[in-house]
Amino acid sequence: MSYVTSAGAPDAPCVFCSALAAGDDRRALILRRGQRAFLILNAFPYATGHLMAMPVRHVARVEDATADELTETMTLVQESVRALNAGYQPDGFNMGINQGRVAGAGVLGHVHAHVVPRWNGDTNFMPVIADTKVLPESLETTYDRLTALLRA
Ligand SMILES: [Zn+2]
Repeated sequence: MSYVTSAGAPDAPCVFCSALAAGDDRRALILRRGQRAFLILNAFPYATGHLMAMPVRHVARVEDATADELTETMTLVQESVRALNAGYQPDGFNMGINQGRVAGAGVLGHVHAHVVPRWNGDTNFMPVIADTKVLPESLETTYDRLTALLRA
């Protein structure tokens, strides 16, 4: 995925901080802003509803984040799981943080937790990462559905 390669370059501007600063949350795919953390839809999802929660502050590693930032990040993970359950009825989730290039992090400078809904019979997680996937729903549709579900 070229997006991951370029975004992971050390001198590249942070895609997440750029999204926060863009001023158009729908276009930037920001689903929810909290005080210390926010939710953003993955622009290159492994599955429909693939989103990420992370601190607002640009911190590269989980050990650099404060307890409050981590708490709010995980609370947003929980809220997104509830919203995805309500709207998409997945059979399970992959949730996790890839830290460091060796661990598969696409954006190295800004720590983020992935939430990937899973359905029985869908493709295994790892092969999906390495491939482009045809999605049954547009990002805009997912964005509108999830922002409504998060408000519910
Ligand atoms: Zn950042």
